[in-house]
Amino acid sequence: MSRLVMKFGGTSVANIERIRNVARHVERERKSGADVAVVVSAMSGKTNELVGWCAEASRLYDPREYDCVVASGEQITAGLLAIVLQDMGVPARSWQGWQIPILTSQSHGSARIAHINADAIIEGFASRGEVAVVAGFQGLHKESGRITTLGRGGSDTSAVAVAAAIGADRCDIYTDVDGVYTTDPRIVPKAKRLDRIAFEEMLEMASLGAKVLQVRSVELAMAHKVKTYVRSSFDDPLDPKAGTLICDEEDILEQQVVTGIAFSKDEAQITLRKVVDHPGVAAAIFMPLAEANINVDMIIQVASENSGVTDMTFTVSTADFERAKSILHKLQPQIGFESLNGAMEVVKISAIGVGMRSHAGVAAMAFKALAEKGINIRAITTSEIKFSVLIEAAYTELAVRTLHTLYGLDKA
Ligand code: ADP
Ligand code: ASP
Ligand code: MG
Repeated sequence: MSRLVMKFGGTSVANIERIRNVARHVERERKSGADVAVVVSAMSGKTNELVGWCAEASRLYDPREYDCVVASGEQITAGLLAIVLQDMGVPARSWQGWQIPILTSQSHGSARIAHINADAIIEGFASRGEVAVVAGFQGLHKESGRITTLGRGGSDTSAVAVAAAIGADRCDIYTDVDGVYTTDPRIVPKAKRLDRIAFEEMLEMASLGAKVLQVRSVELAMAHKVKTYVRSSFDDPLDPKAGTLICDEEDILEQQVVTGIAFSKDEAQITLRKVVDHPGVAAAIFMPLAEANINVDMIIQVASENSGVTDMTFTVSTADFERAKSILHKLQPQIGFESLNGAMEVVKISAIGVGMRSHAGVAAMAFKALAEKGINIRAITTSEIKFSVLIEAAYTELAVRTLHTLYGLDKA
């Protein structure tokens, strides 16, 4: 018998009618002879509401209690789907993260899955033909006995991890779009669904802002060779359509130079003006940030001539912006800089494609096309299969559309 994990995101379980629709998808797969573990998110908007309540309750809340609160959204949908499945005559039971258990690290709010004991789920398949409805997003830190959560979008990761643990033949991620697109279809109506995308490209797309899959889920799928398929929960359960398979690069026949465009508004720019330019200055700036667990992404140092000072521009995530500024202000006398400017209204636009490995000048084309639209580039980074530019946020749509057309993706 084949084994399948089916994951349904927030919009797909937004109300009882949609949960019934989800149950019909599950019923179809069971009738075709698969043992099914379903992973569900909270109803759409629920997690935001729970996060909001924590913030309202206290400015500095205990992260263990935050996890206790935000994990509850998934508890509800797991129970509801089990009820609906039972009502349809499909044997099913819900599983909370701590019941399986899905063991994680202790990093509350962004825990990593360490181990899943899938014995009880597999036993349920074998002896009762039971669908396991697993609450996504949540886990257990064994030593402290506390509930943890995996970070926003974490149910994707729960799904891939459960798939690896039960040895599933496939992990289907059902969402509100019918696959992975060349860019966010909400921003570019001309975006095209990809039949296949390489793991590495999906990893870059996700880390550079395409939130269709959580980054960690792609890492896990890649490491454990989980065949992951992104598809729509809004398809007719009796006649589902194609989605996007995340697969090895070798399994993609026709490879474009650029596969997709991603963007992230979760970026803030900091510029230190007239930094005293001597060996060790970069370390003096970035070590304290690293020690405070602040990730620095793009870095530009303006080459100094003979003035003995330089300008240093870099980006941090918006969540770390205030903290980073305050650390640097405190260290101003030690580092030696004249002023600090910050900007939140920026966006990072990235183009991704394994074809970039073998093609020169891919990024240069983008710089020219953006310049022609009057878009100023504040920072650039490149690596083997992607490049990113930092620009003013007001130009997000124009820049994404420009690059989408430039690389021939409108007609992909
Ligand atoms: P779920 O609640 O099912 O987990 P998400 O909202 O987390 O769904 O992810 C799906 C959304 O991701 C889509 O509605 C779409 O707007 C967005 N998205 C961003 N980039 C892409 C992309 N390249 N392809 C498909 N969807 C994308
Ligand atoms: N409900 C969680 C969130 O909104 C997890 C998820 O949907 O994947 O982040
Ligand atoms: Mg999601």
